Amino acid sequence: MSANTYDFVVIGSGPAGRRAAIQAAKVGRSVLVVEKGRRVGGVSVHTGTIPSKTLRETVLNLTGWRERGFYGRAYRVKKDIEAKDLMMRLHMTLDHEVDVLEHQFARNGVNTLRGAARFVDAHRVEVALESGDTRVVTGERFLIAVGTRPHRPADVAFNGRNILDSDEIVDIPRLPRSLTVVGAGVIGVEYATIFSALDVSVALVESRSGFLEFIDQELIEDFTHQLRDRGVALRLGCKVARIEFDNDWPVTVLDNGRRIRSEMVLYTAGRVGATESLNLEACGLTSDSRGRLKVDPATFQTEAPHIYAAGDVIGFPSLASTSMEQGRMSACHAFDVKIPPAPEYFPYGIYSVPEISTVGLTEQEVRQRDIPYECGVARFRETSRGHIMGLHAGMMKMIFALDTRRLLGVHIVGEGATELVHIGQAVLNLHGTLDYFIENTFNYPTLAEAYKIAALDAWNRMPSA
Ligand SMILES: Cc1cc2nc3c(=O)[nH]c(=O)nc-3n(C[C@H](O)[C@H](O)[C@H](O)COP(=O)(O)OP(=O)(O)OC[C@H]3O[C@@H](n4cnc5c(N)ncnc54)[C@H](O)[C@@H]3O)c2cc1C
Repeated sequence: MSANTYDFVVIGSGPAGRRAAIQAAKVGRSVLVVEKGRRVGGVSVHTGTIPSKTLRETVLNLTGWRERGFYGRAYRVKKDIEAKDLMMRLHMTLDHEVDVLEHQFARNGVNTLRGAARFVDAHRVEVALESGDTRVVTGERFLIAVGTRPHRPADVAFNGRNILDSDEIVDIPRLPRSLTVVGAGVIGVEYATIFSALDVSVALVESRSGFLEFIDQELIEDFTHQLRDRGVALRLGCKVARIEFDNDWPVTVLDNGRRIRSEMVLYTAGRVGATESLNLEACGLTSDSRGRLKVDPATFQTEAPHIYAAGDVIGFPSLASTSMEQGRMSACHAFDVKIPPAPEYFPYGIYSVPEISTVGLTEQEVRQRDIPYECGVARFRETSRGHIMGLHAGMMKMIFALDTRRLLGVHIVGEGATELVHIGQAVLNLHGTLDYFIENTFNYPTLAEAYKIAALDAWNRMPSA
């Protein structure tokens, strides 16, 4: 095989590309990952998942957020937190992530090439190298894992200084004293609550009357109460008419006439597939109006069967966690590695403050499907671990089918939600029932005890087995 010919050419080194490349290399295929960014890792490592989660962790640590339940709202670990305090940890974490990834590629014999790829025909891509040269690479199979970029509406004057998109916010030179977040999707809600934990005055604007509609609404009510209680101004059902300036401060003018003056605006209006420069016509593919590609959900093949697509570029659920699995599954299909079908349910983690995590059906979905059900609820303050930690908030809700007693969904808001949910996920995907939680012993004291408390709460109202 020539130096420019590979079994598998992967475009993009985010979670989907990375996992696919390593999977293909593990079964002995020659693999090239083309990445146009300065370093490998994708949005996940450089502007999305890892930066936002590092920022969150740093904020929680430096503010002493987790201790405030005990020592009061005035408790602080560091009094004056500056942007450089947040950035230091961020850069250390990112360097480490890139190191690990480069090592993984090297260990598995995955080749990498830095440059932007575009198709020249169905089996060849041209890579524009930093030097200005180009290199043409031939592949037997391809994976398009180019991810997304923030959608930037033309009428918003993004300036990288005080009107920012979600990629720019991870690199702010100074902390604002007030912030308006436009768009209460996952990213908007995460940043709004992280900045609010830093005592920044936050307004969250959303044109729909609700937000995070895919989450169980009882959790959202609890979450909303917590946000309002600490002063986040929720402006739901309000469209942004325009953003003006008043003495260099942006003023977000809402369609109901209300004006929100803040030092900074974070505009999160969703993301679009980064397919525009791939020259898709050359390989016979087209993207939809948001730049996304259609695939067969079982195999991740596009309409050109030797070209796969995975990760955010194929749309929902647009998570690093699911992108990795899609990447792995696409490589397995491409190189005939037999794997079982994906489990029915995957978890969703929202790293807001407090965090939210959920797996399985919400109460709204159970009702829509006419499934007779019962719910059990536990409050973290009912657990001894919750007392020890000084938790006043946090809840877990479980939903069980009345006839089979099977677990249908687990919904958690509060400390540790994104870790705790995996117990529920295991029981759910293994088709477990209420009785698992009643009959098994949980470590004591733990927040996981909430599973037993919620199960007992449901058991009180369930017909006997
Ligand atoms: C602020 C934020 C927070 C998030 N938090 C979470 C979270 O907590 N948990 C979670 O699971 N998910 C989270 N996500 C989502 C997660 O980051 C994405 O689901 C994930 O990064 C998608 O992976 P991917 O492999 O599809 O592509 P990406 O990570 O988007 O990577 C695509 C790569 O392709 C490269 N590329 C694009 N075009 C070309 C080209 N023509 N040639 C060569 N290279 C190209 C890009 O430079 C990029 O490096 C978050 C996202 C954001 C924005």
